[in-house]
Amino acid sequence: MFSKSKMALRAFALIAMVAGSTYAVSSNAAEKTSDTTIFSEKELQTAAWLRDAARADNASYRILESLTTEVGPRLAGSPADARAVAWAEAKFKELGFDKVWKEPVSFPTWQRGIEKAEIIAPFPQPLLVTALGNSVATPADGLSAELVQFASLKELMSAAPDSVKGKIVFINHKMQNASEYGAVQAGRTKGASEAARKGAVAIIIRSVGTDSHRFPHTGVMNYDDGVSKIPAAAMSNSDADMVVRMLKRGKPVTVKLQLSSAAASTYTSYNVIGEITGSELPNEYVLIGGHLDSWDLGTGAIDDGAGCAITMAAAEFIKRHGLKPKRSIRVVLFANEEQGLFGGKAYAQAHEKQLAAIQAASEADSGQGPVTQMSSFVRPEAFGIVKQMHNVLAPLGIAAGGNNAYPGPDMGGLRALGVASFGLTLKTDDYFDLHHTPDDTFDKIEPARINQATAAYTVFAWMAANSPIGFGSGAEYLKAIKQ
Ligand SMILES: [Zn+2]
Repeated sequence: MFSKSKMALRAFALIAMVAGSTYAVSSNAAEKTSDTTIFSEKELQTAAWLRDAARADNASYRILESLTTEVGPRLAGSPADARAVAWAEAKFKELGFDKVWKEPVSFPTWQRGIEKAEIIAPFPQPLLVTALGNSVATPADGLSAELVQFASLKELMSAAPDSVKGKIVFINHKMQNASEYGAVQAGRTKGASEAARKGAVAIIIRSVGTDSHRFPHTGVMNYDDGVSKIPAAAMSNSDADMVVRMLKRGKPVTVKLQLSSAAASTYTSYNVIGEITGSELPNEYVLIGGHLDSWDLGTGAIDDGAGCAITMAAAEFIKRHGLKPKRSIRVVLFANEEQGLFGGKAYAQAHEKQLAAIQAASEADSGQGPVTQMSSFVRPEAFGIVKQMHNVLAPLGIAAGGNNAYPGPDMGGLRALGVASFGLTLKTDDYFDLHHTPDDTFDKIEPARINQATAAYTVFAWMAANSPIGFGSGAEYLKAIKQ
């Protein structure tokens, strides 16, 4: 309990110290304690204790070990989806959350199947490929055609249809660093329909990833309405390098591709929710979480088991130490983010009439940390609180960002509706080496990194929940900024 903790002893010592020197306290300090729109020194001490104690705790690491070992890959709509939901419900209960419930999320499903490719001329050899999520199958015995190379989606878009017709499009867009993800990913999501419009029979892209391992990266792709659906796959960066060398020799390169992936029936999964009930404003809440689904190639450790574990552990740490947040802290593990943000959209729809109840929203979905920056999206009256939050987080090496935060993929819809948001930026230097590959596994998790991120989320959740003022969800100021 709280009274037995080191923190209480420290807080007591501080109070005694201040009380003993009442007449020596400067008018500056007196002003601070009388300002009811910011945290008192005592409250800041509690937040600083939480930061240091949570950083020394290992709960998020243990939760992630449990998820990746006891459930493993969690492709949305697969039998593992239901096992992940059952795991999450049980884990929230085991961790002592006050309320645990599920909200339904329906979506079309997709199954991977066989995925094979080989160069059949001029220099026959196998290629390591993976189907992109949503891809249709090839004919059962595969399809063979000449490769035509483009440097990017943009180059494909401006190509003459004659150069593409009857061929397999190869988008050779190498991703150099994390900041290029959006631009390179466009080839993955939109390339198939662009290629099909010009008469291509299939598309194989260079994997959207920064590694040089021989692992193809999967990820979702989408077909435009009214355009024929062609099979879509990715080859590993190593294979793409080899294909480029072969194409440089000037002879036509012919590839055989075989995929048996297919769309399947509609499935209903769940957003799984655990809440620590607030002591003074229980109907208002701080919204944190990650997405429970993962791609099927690895075990979804960094994407996004880490985000689930970090946010579950942050709320649990506060509860375990007997601290009672004023507002509730709600952790949502979203269903099916990977194939189209279905869980996030369902949550926004189910809660759109109670947006003002959300004190602040922040999802963790960029790996294991550390957190390098915190940005906000709040009404100006709350800037003083945000500055105090930055001050408490600074010893973790977290920089202060501006007031234009993005709260993460599953909460982007809420932000667009004017929900106050925070962005706790996770370091992504090695994220796109592992993301969506068989290498996204628990052994890549470093306790020091995930513990720092958990400490950051613990401080954020605690201070946002205990803020003396609201951050302005639904206020005209936030609604006016659509982005
Ligand atoms: Zn993710």
